[in-house]
Amino acid sequence: MYTAKARAVDGPHQPFHATEIKRRNLDSHDVLIEIKYSGICHSDIHTAHGEWGEVNYPLVPGHEIAGVVSDVGPEVTKYKAGDRVGVGCMVDSCGECENCCRGEEQYCHQGNIQTYGGVDKYGEPTQGGYSTHIVVTEDFVLRIPDNIELDVAAPLLCAGITTYSPLNHWNAGPGKKVAVVGMGGLGHMAVKIAHAMGAEVTVLSRTLNKKEDGLEFGAENYYATSEQETFEKLAGSFDLIINTVSAKLDMDAYFSLLNLDGALVNVGAPAEPLSVNVFSLIGHRRSFAGSLIGGIRETQEMLDFCAEHHIVPKIEVISADQIDEAYKRVLDSDVKYRFVIDVSTI
Ligand SMILES: [Zn+2]
Ligand SMILES: [Zn+2]
Repeated sequence: MYTAKARAVDGPHQPFHATEIKRRNLDSHDVLIEIKYSGICHSDIHTAHGEWGEVNYPLVPGHEIAGVVSDVGPEVTKYKAGDRVGVGCMVDSCGECENCCRGEEQYCHQGNIQTYGGVDKYGEPTQGGYSTHIVVTEDFVLRIPDNIELDVAAPLLCAGITTYSPLNHWNAGPGKKVAVVGMGGLGHMAVKIAHAMGAEVTVLSRTLNKKEDGLEFGAENYYATSEQETFEKLAGSFDLIINTVSAKLDMDAYFSLLNLDGALVNVGAPAEPLSVNVFSLIGHRRSFAGSLIGGIRETQEMLDFCAEHHIVPKIEVISADQIDEAYKRVLDSDVKYRFVIDVSTI
């Protein structure tokens, strides 16, 4: 067993504290990673606060992990000590079901094994990236391209793939009009990626506060959803809407912005059910869909795409002592656009 330093919470709304956790000995295909940076995702906050079901505390969150391989198991072929690598939202899956065989491990019929808050195949609780080391089977480790620094690489492992996958699946590209709802951690990545794919991008945000940033990230248009004219002006405009907001919205108003065969895809996950008037979908053969991160192959493709197009998130690096404050600021939407923990301070 390896001993790793970590930051954990002991219950909903408890402060983070320094602790030590055990990481398993390397199995034949395991990789030991020395974590350098760990992003703070909104999911970490929901989970730490116990808002997404029962949590086995103490919990070490973190599923936007970037670091360097420090050791490998005897049968590892993909990685060696010194390689720059990342780990995202899942660390294992059954590997045998139809979806795993298609490379869509996130939709594993048995349920993928989450990076934290899950139970691994040895029966042990999984603990995430707010920690100095992690052991992961090589098939769930990603290679970070040389021209992406590790601090900005971290958020790509969740925010990057969560937005890349639906943009890719619904064919964002030249000639397509894509709207991104919400300009937070996910939204700003969606804008950058959709723009790099060649789509015409519009941001729909509550206010125009972040308009300058949105245009700099590659959006061509930026509208405030607090203004009713926005919905009148943009009616029937978009082929694809990526909704990154995890609060309750008037879905019918957003469906009215879709063109014939348009799709609205939720990547934000509101705790409450959303209400839908089916007539808003029937009228223009519109679809309402959801999307969860991406498979391992697609995550590597996303990292390589971001390297090729020089896309990185805009981040604020913090020390481990600032996690509680960072959580508060994320909930106040006071972050541009992702907090990343410098793990050397753990
Ligand atoms: Zn996440
Ligand atoms: Zn499976």
